[in-house]
Amino acid sequence: MNKPVEVKAADMVPLWINGAAQPARSMRCGEVTNPATGRVIRKVPFCNAADIDAAVDAAKNAFPGWRATPPVRRARILMRFRDLLEAHRKDLTHLVTGEHGKTLPDAAGSVQRGIEVVEFASGVPHLLKGEHAEDVGRGIDSHSMLQPLGVCAGITPFNFPAMVPLWMFPVAIACGNAFVLKPSEKVPSASVRMAELFKEAGLPDGVFNVVHGDREAVDCLLAHPDIKAVSFVGSTPIAKYVYETAAKGGKRVQALGGAKNHAVVLPDADLDFTAHALVGAAYGSAGERCMAISAVVAVGAAGDALVRKIAERAAKLPVGAGDAHGIEMGPLITRAHRERVRGYIDKGVAEGAKLVLDGRGLRVTEHEEGFFLGPTLFDHVTAGMTVYRDEIFGPVLVVLRAGTLDEAIRLVNANPYGNGTAIFTRSGAAARRFQNEIEVGMVGINVPIPVPMAFFSFGGWKDSLFGDLHVHGMEGVSFYTRTKVVTTRWPGTDSAAPGLTMPTMG
Ligand code: NAD
Repeated sequence: MNKPVEVKAADMVPLWINGAAQPARSMRCGEVTNPATGRVIRKVPFCNAADIDAAVDAAKNAFPGWRATPPVRRARILMRFRDLLEAHRKDLTHLVTGEHGKTLPDAAGSVQRGIEVVEFASGVPHLLKGEHAEDVGRGIDSHSMLQPLGVCAGITPFNFPAMVPLWMFPVAIACGNAFVLKPSEKVPSASVRMAELFKEAGLPDGVFNVVHGDREAVDCLLAHPDIKAVSFVGSTPIAKYVYETAAKGGKRVQALGGAKNHAVVLPDADLDFTAHALVGAAYGSAGERCMAISAVVAVGAAGDALVRKIAERAAKLPVGAGDAHGIEMGPLITRAHRERVRGYIDKGVAEGAKLVLDGRGLRVTEHEEGFFLGPTLFDHVTAGMTVYRDEIFGPVLVVLRAGTLDEAIRLVNANPYGNGTAIFTRSGAAARRFQNEIEVGMVGINVPIPVPMAFFSFGGWKDSLFGDLHVHGMEGVSFYTRTKVVTTRWPGTDSAAPGLTMPTMG
């Protein structure tokens, strides 16, 4: 049995303020655990108001100089940052696996998806071009400009320690804002490492700052008068709270929440391909992905064969420490979360769902204290059951049965979440209807996890996103900028002076 190790002061994760690693003023802290071993590997400070003030002040002071830096120069710093992320991809990947638990190849993939946002943001001189119209009136021209907001804040979840922060700060900073990031207190190290690399790339001190903590730190950010916009990614109840609190304070907010992502499988689908895709989408990262497929809607005759094929594959998945060779599924984030997910499996059994594969008995040799739970599969789940209604966020896949595509679409649309969904079929007509009628923000057609590339925007509908704009892509640029329209007339082009009536230009 692994004994918890004592953590030394040197193992405390620093804040990153004004271009330097700093200790917190707050005396409160939490523990960062390696989920594969159950051992505490470092501590993380929980910032108080004085810490948040220091970070916001640094950002506020850096903002005027950064805003005045031409976008093309900002872009060059982003390009160097991108190269440094690439050069240090291996360390970042190990930090992600060490604190989150996902496998190294999965962690490397998530770092890659984050790097792609930096690549998108490097095109900022083009992205910030406004519009121009000559002769909107006689001798009058108009042009629009996209200007930064000031200090923006980001609050991120545990499940993508590098990628989700990278959805936010590169775009915000490319647009000329300064940024304060509060990553999840469970996985704080990747953010600090990225801040070091951004400085090495030439980012002026204070433009990017990292603070840590729990609700106290978040509340200080939400209440801070110098923060103009808040990007949040996490669970739905906190997303709603962040949206309402920050909006009430006059801030611009995008708050991405939880999910229950459905895959609809029609009887004409290639069931071997579909089962393979669904095992990856349901159990990859131990189901701790906001785009994980957690509910399958098997239509008509697809059900029995599909469930058998998923169960055969899932039962053979190698589960173990994310840094071990050949492992496909790692542990859950904490012991408490593992127990919560286990509780859902108990509830599913009690509510009468058919337990096809039970992950509760899994033991991983030499990792008895790790937070492991095996792949679990329920069949004949109904819409009223807790395992369907709640976001479980673990390796638990539930299968519901529907008679027709109509019934499947109605079921998906009745669900309060609307993050991602997928349809598996060989019918173009069915797929076209599905993409048109489904009330979900990101749709895959024979693609199980349809995470948009960085040059599109990522975001869900309904309880999966509070706010109007999605992250990265052009919606990210819109979120982090304000539009100004300038209407110009020069003496000599039109001598008629404006009168008292509403100007009509023409
Ligand atoms: P969480 O909501 O518990 O935490 C997210 C952030 O909010 C963290 O930084 C945390 O410190 C902070 N926080 C936690 N409790 C708070 C409180 N009471 N007041 C203020 N701040 C608080 O989420 P999590 O467990 O870290 O992440 C998993 C959740 O995130 C899942 O629901 C998942 O679906 C969701 N998620 C959504 C997306 C998306 O794009 N929609 C992406 C990734 C994760």
